[in-house]
Amino acid sequence: MKNQQSNSRRTFLRNLGAGASALSLPLLGYADNQFVQHESSGLYSLRTELDAMGLAQPGRKLGIALVGLGGYSTNQLAPALQQTQNCRLAGIVTGTPSKAEEWMKKYNIPKANVYDYKTFDRIADNKDIDVVYVVLPNSMHEEYVVRAAQAGKHVICEKPMAIMPKACQNMIDACKKANKQLAIGYRLHYEPFTKEIMRLGQEKVFGPVKFVESSDGFRSGDPNQWRLKKSMAGGGPLMDVGIYAVQGARYVTGEEPISVTAQFAPKTDPQKFKDVEETMFWQFEFPSGAVSNSTTSYAAGVERLYASCEKGWFELAPAFGYGPLKGRTSKGPIEQPVVNHQAAHMDGVCKDLLDGKKLPNHVTGEEGLRDVRLLQAIYQAAETGKKINLKA
Ligand code: NAD
Repeated sequence: MKNQQSNSRRTFLRNLGAGASALSLPLLGYADNQFVQHESSGLYSLRTELDAMGLAQPGRKLGIALVGLGGYSTNQLAPALQQTQNCRLAGIVTGTPSKAEEWMKKYNIPKANVYDYKTFDRIADNKDIDVVYVVLPNSMHEEYVVRAAQAGKHVICEKPMAIMPKACQNMIDACKKANKQLAIGYRLHYEPFTKEIMRLGQEKVFGPVKFVESSDGFRSGDPNQWRLKKSMAGGGPLMDVGIYAVQGARYVTGEEPISVTAQFAPKTDPQKFKDVEETMFWQFEFPSGAVSNSTTSYAAGVERLYASCEKGWFELAPAFGYGPLKGRTSKGPIEQPVVNHQAAHMDGVCKDLLDGKKLPNHVTGEEGLRDVRLLQAIYQAAETGKKINLKA
C-alpha cells in the first residue's frame, strides 16, 4: 500500500514536472497559512521528493511581467531586474508597439511574452510568467490586479494600492480566490536604513517615541500628467508621495493611528492644481500617546522622517527616495549598506514566493488597504475640518 501510494505520487510529480515548474508546487495549496500547515504534514516531503528527482530546480528565478512601461518600469524596475537573484524580466504588457519592439531587443524578451491590454488575459497560458507587476496609473491598478489573479499569477501592485478601500478589498479577494499572493510595491520595507529606523522606533531603542515628523514632497513638472487628474490619481501629492509619510509614521511607531486632523494649504497655482491638492498637512494621534505631523506637496521639496523619543532622537533624510538614504541618531550616524531598492524589493518578495512562504503582513494587500483607508481619512479630515476618529 505504501509503495503504491509512493508510485502514484511519483507519476503525479513526473506529470507535473512535464508541464508546470516543480517549484510552483509549494504554492499550489497556498492560502493564508495553509502551506505552513502542509509543510509539517506532507507538502514538505513532496518537495523533498522533487528535489531528489531533480525537478525543484534550485536557483530558478521567477519570471516577472511588467504591466505599463512608463517611468518607473523603464528607469527603475527593468534595470533592477538585471541585478536580481530570485526573479528576472520575463514579459511585458504595453499598449505601445514601438515600446514592445524596443524592450524585446534591449532585454531579449521573446515575442510570445509580449502582451497588450487586450491580449493580457492570455498570460494565463504562459509558463514563463509567474508574477505580474502592475505599474500603471493608480486608477487602473484594481482592474489589472484582478485580471492577473484570474490568470493564475502572483501579483505585485504599485502604491498606492488603489484609490478607494473597496477597490483594495476586491483585489485582495481576487488574489485569495485564485490562491495567489499579492504584494504592494513597498520597496522601503526591504531597504536597510528603513529597516533600521523601524527597529529603533518599534523596539524603543531611544525610549518610547513621543513625536514623529514625516514628510515627502517635490516640485512636480508636466501640467498634463495623469498625476494631476483626480480620476486617474485619486488625488494629488498625498496619493503619490504622501503615502510614504503615512507609512513612515506608522513604521516608526509600529502603531496604527487612532485619529487624524488635516489641512489643505492655499493653492499657489490654481490652474495646474484645479483637480487635486497642491500641498497639505495632517496630524495623527497614536494609542501610546505619540503624535505625528506630516506635509506633502507638489510645489515644494521635503523628504524627512524624524522621531523624537524619551531618551534621544533619530532621523532619515532623505528618507523615501531611491537612495542612498542617510540616517543619524542622537548618538551618531546610522551605518547601513546601500542597496538597489527595487532589486531588494523584488528579490525579497520572490524569495518568499519561491520558498512557498506567506509574505510578511507589512508588504501585502492588507497593508496597502490600511494606507488607502488612511489617505481617504486624511482627505475627509481636511474637507470637513473635523478630527476623524480612526478607532475601529
Ligand atoms: P508613468 O506615467 O511614467 O507611466 C504610466 C504607464 O501607464 C505608461 O507606460 C502609460 O503608457 C501607461 N498607461 C496605460 N494606460 C494609460 C492611461 N489611460 N493613461 C495614462 N497612462 C497609461 O507613471 P509611473 O511613474 O511609472 O507610475 C506608475 C505607477 O507606479 C503609479 O502607481 C505610481 O504611483 C507607481 N510608482 C511607484 C514608485 C515607487 O517608488 N514605488 C515610483 C514611481 C511610480
